[in-house]
Amino acid sequence: DVVVVHNLQKYFPAHKKNLFVRAVDGIDFTVRKNEVVGLVGESGSGKSTTAYLVMGLYEPTAGTISFQGQDISLSAKKRALTLKKEIQIVFQDPGTSLNPQRTVGQILGMPLRVHKVVPEKDLEEKIALLLDMVGLPEDYIYKYSRTLGGGERQLVAIARALATDPSLIVLDEPTSALDVSVQAKIIGTLMRLREQLGMSYLFITHDMSLMRNIADRIAIMYLGKIVEMAPARDFFQRPLHPYTQMLLSSIPVVLKAEQELKPQRIRSQGEIPSPVHIPPGCRFHTRCPQAGPICLQEEPEMMEAFPDHRVCCHLCHKAN
Ligand code: SF4
Ligand code: MG
Repeated sequence: DVVVVHNLQKYFPAHKKNLFVRAVDGIDFTVRKNEVVGLVGESGSGKSTTAYLVMGLYEPTAGTISFQGQDISLSAKKRALTLKKEIQIVFQDPGTSLNPQRTVGQILGMPLRVHKVVPEKDLEEKIALLLDMVGLPEDYIYKYSRTLGGGERQLVAIARALATDPSLIVLDEPTSALDVSVQAKIIGTLMRLREQLGMSYLFITHDMSLMRNIADRIAIMYLGKIVEMAPARDFFQRPLHPYTQMLLSSIPVVLKAEQELKPQRIRSQGEIPSPVHIPPGCRFHTRCPQAGPICLQEEPEMMEAFPDHRVCCHLCHKAN
């Protein structure tokens, strides 16, 4: 395993005193070598907070994150430089994550210099190589990022992430701010690079049909918890959690080639409760069509229903 997350929690103070936003509320998952793990959830489910914790942009309230056996449950500032280069992130909006006043060469030169990836004299050659890896022409090195289109900017952000030769890239909805027409190109580039470089991806998204095409394993988050995690095939063949079943029922069964390009948003049935006031018992009970009396009182525990297929629901305990 490249990353092992154990009992991870992140609480933020709420507006009202003594209350907390339980953004991430005790989750366990792993990312293996050369694997794409899809972390799927509605907005407010805690998936981006999880991404930021893995990146070290936040420090956890409790729990641990380890990377290749080393504890990284610290903010990135406190992480060793050698560890920092191993985990990179591509944010949702390349318009704000890239400085518009900088040239592509300056943007890509920064991590190369900070991490001393190549000697100064080889900098330009390395930048050209990075551009080539993401399929951008060499002369982009002199272009200002503000002059690029959204898709091109995201390719530059990907090249920047690759600069330090990371083992893991966290992708926080990398295509959801882009036109549908450029999404496929970005995804294709990401998949090719993963193949070529043997990296792992933690892919944060609300786009279930995208995950169907690219994820090796999928985890579903609901109100700060992972409620189900399984290999992609198994996940779509026998989804066990009522929430997963609800999400999958909103995806058309027949996916034609052109339909696959359209992002399938998660359509919520009923409102997602506030992470400040998480329902007692099973946190999904307020929206669950199958909720019974026990669900209002007891929080279900995660169990392995099939090999590598974990689920958190009282019904699944009964079935076994
Ligand atoms: Fe629904 Fe109960 Fe399962 Fe929660 S534990 S998902 S409320 S059936
Ligand atoms: Mg988000």
